[in-house]
Amino acid sequence: MPRFLTSLLLVLAMTLQASGQESKDKITYALAIHGGAGSSPGMFSDKANQQRYDAMEAALSTGQKILAQGGTSLDAVEAVVRGLEDDPQFNAGRGAVFNADSKHELDASIMDGSNLECGAVAGVTTIKNPISLARMVMTETNHVLLSGSGADLFGKSMKVPQVDNTWFDTPATLKRWKKIQEKRDNASLKHQSLKRRDLEIVDMDTGSYMGTVGCVALDQHGNLAAATSTGGMTNKRFGRIGDSPIIAAGTYANNQTCAVSCTGIGEEFIRRAVAYDVAARLKYQQVPLQKAVNEILTNELPAEAGGIIAIDKDGEICMEYSTKGMARAAADSSGRFEVLWHKDKADSQQK
Ligand code: ASP
Repeated sequence: MPRFLTSLLLVLAMTLQASGQESKDKITYALAIHGGAGSSPGMFSDKANQQRYDAMEAALSTGQKILAQGGTSLDAVEAVVRGLEDDPQFNAGRGAVFNADSKHELDASIMDGSNLECGAVAGVTTIKNPISLARMVMTETNHVLLSGSGADLFGKSMKVPQVDNTWFDTPATLKRWKKIQEKRDNASLKHQSLKRRDLEIVDMDTGSYMGTVGCVALDQHGNLAAATSTGGMTNKRFGRIGDSPIIAAGTYANNQTCAVSCTGIGEEFIRRAVAYDVAARLKYQQVPLQKAVNEILTNELPAEAGGIIAIDKDGEICMEYSTKGMARAAADSSGRFEVLWHKDKADSQQK
């Protein structure tokens, strides 16, 4: 065989091998979940840590199955968040924290990265699964965000399961609320000059935000989606709305860039439009996802403000936080399936 032909065949074979490798390695679906920043395994008993781990694993498996079977990222993020809302360990749905009036007001949002459709509810008080109602705001109305009694009434008209507000109570959230009330009383007695705003800072150090849930996913059709659900921050004022139902602050998804779900001190995330900022850095600066998220957590947000999970359009997963801990989990089509909580080395060192 002429020499040039042998070389040509060799080059052809190498190219084919390289492209074969590439397609083998290409991530066809991916999923990441957070169970809230602001808590670390050191704050819980071994039993509670194991329960939290098991819940994250079950949620991961729910989402992974949907995506592996060719389901949509939107269905996956809704199913994952819905499952975690039903679990009283998390600050979303049942287990949502108490506000200053000892009631529960729940926030949730969802976004479809394929068309920028999105829906959210804020301050709902009777909706068992706020994330599913958020999806209905997206699909059944011309609006993006419904709040308070209007959102509860919309839920009623859509015939979604409704519950009494006390249904969201749990002994753990009541205990945390009482602790904050006590701490506040002591602080104001000791320092009579403390302003209302200073007192609200006292709340932040008392585990007032932990257990919010969020999920981001890329499906086999190349579509990204994101969802977040929370009871907000313990002892929040009646009517306070955090970042979780605010598209671009707590939740964002765009097929061109990434899907993002945030957790932490909502006000800080709203001020900086954090979820959108991640996507904007990918779009306008072409920086990798990990770099974008790290820069926001370290250079933009105040110390210990919270955490971010994100997936880019190629299935790259990022789960970072600046607090003491964040329950998190990730799975993808390459076989990755991991829950990062108390069994994770970095997390167990925090104990
Ligand atoms: N971001 C939520 C809020 O401010 C709380 C959290 O993530 O735990 O309402």
